[in-house]
Amino acid sequence: MRADLIIIGAGIIGAAIAREAANAGLHVQVLTQNEPGTGVTATGMGHIVVLDDEPSELALCKLSSELWDGFAQTTEAEYRRCGTLWVACNAKENALLEEKRIRLLAAGINATSIDSRDIPRFEPNLRSGLAGALLVERDAVVYAPRMAAYLLSAPCQTGCIDVRMAHVTGISRGVVQLYGGEKLVADAVVVAAGLASQDLLPELTLVPRKGHLVITDRYPGWVNHQVLEVGYSASAHGSGESVAFNIQPRATGQLLLGSSRQPQVSTREVDPGVLAKMIARAQEFMPKLSSLRAIRAWTGVRPGTPDGKPYIGRWPLVSNCWLAAGHEGLGITTALGTARLLIDQILQRPLSVDPSPYSPLRQFQAARAEHIA
Ligand SMILES: Cc1cc2nc3c(=O)[nH]c(=O)nc-3n(C[C@H](O)[C@H](O)[C@H](O)COP(=O)(O)OP(=O)(O)OC[C@H]3O[C@@H](n4cnc5c(N)ncnc54)[C@H](O)[C@@H]3O)c2cc1C
Repeated sequence: MRADLIIIGAGIIGAAIAREAANAGLHVQVLTQNEPGTGVTATGMGHIVVLDDEPSELALCKLSSELWDGFAQTTEAEYRRCGTLWVACNAKENALLEEKRIRLLAAGINATSIDSRDIPRFEPNLRSGLAGALLVERDAVVYAPRMAAYLLSAPCQTGCIDVRMAHVTGISRGVVQLYGGEKLVADAVVVAAGLASQDLLPELTLVPRKGHLVITDRYPGWVNHQVLEVGYSASAHGSGESVAFNIQPRATGQLLLGSSRQPQVSTREVDPGVLAKMIARAQEFMPKLSSLRAIRAWTGVRPGTPDGKPYIGRWPLVSNCWLAAGHEGLGITTALGTARLLIDQILQRPLSVDPSPYSPLRQFQAARAEHIA
């Protein structure tokens, strides 16, 4: 049977879009080269966090966070609302946390300031002498590869999702060409192939950003929240190599430790120098980490864009083609919001958030502006 919508990619982004489309009554065919959830989605941290460095980021994160509320009663894919504890080292960083609290509050997201003396009540293994903290209780963690598989396999309200293992080699006018020559047709095609989206749409520019993670043995209760330093946002949005303290309690009792960023690096091997800097940074916040046993380190390559915002919208160079890619380090958080925003556009429904900051057209506008200058 001919699908209404073909989605290329079964990472968290393609899976979320498939589910949103099927819940709107569409027959969706998902094509994926590898098992669902096994791309970059399997290499990340799975922190669902509202970032607010600019209004469009806050709007998409907030929409997504509200949609993740649908999972509040479930433990599917280890989904757990453990909250985020942002920590400040000095008065200047504490002032940044206060600004963040006010911005979140204005958007309707509750965030509570924690006095430095009270921090041990929340996280006993943080060092003493921190300047303050901010608790965002609604943030959550999820085991993203399993969530991608779940989004594709759980019963849909009205439509349906077929997943097929296939390597797409080209797209034109609603026709998708598979390796081996077979052609598939649909009313619309969504490219959600992560970094590989630029192999299918050659004019698309994505920017790889390599990251390292370390996982420990099981230490249940050692950390209670996802804990981040204030400087994480600067690291996430900056253009150079950086590390930032970021630790997550897993449902297994293990601790997942990040994070590093190396722009324009897409090699997969662990870089001992970057790993050492990342661990040293974490130990500045949690000195007792040195007594725990790490069992594995790995890397993943975030699919970034030149301006740091994902592309969610119509791809102007191929008719009936839509794009959802370039979510960098926020793809798990924003998957459900991305799906809602894209399907709103495809089905011409009222828009949940302003799509213009995410329009793929901006890549061409930026190139034209550079050319004129
Ligand atoms: C170290 C690290 C930590 C992270 N931590 C977080 C975090 O805490 N919170 C957060 O929100 N985000 C985090 N992220 C980011 C997040 O993991 C990504 O933004 C997200 O997983 C991207 O998903 P995707 O679906 O776009 O890509 P992918 O997961 O890479 O999926 C791409 C899909 O496309 C398919 N595909 C590719 N080419 C073809 C083809 N030609 N034909 C058919 N199928 C094809 C693949 O098989 C795959 O199914 C992190 C990332 C990294 C690397």
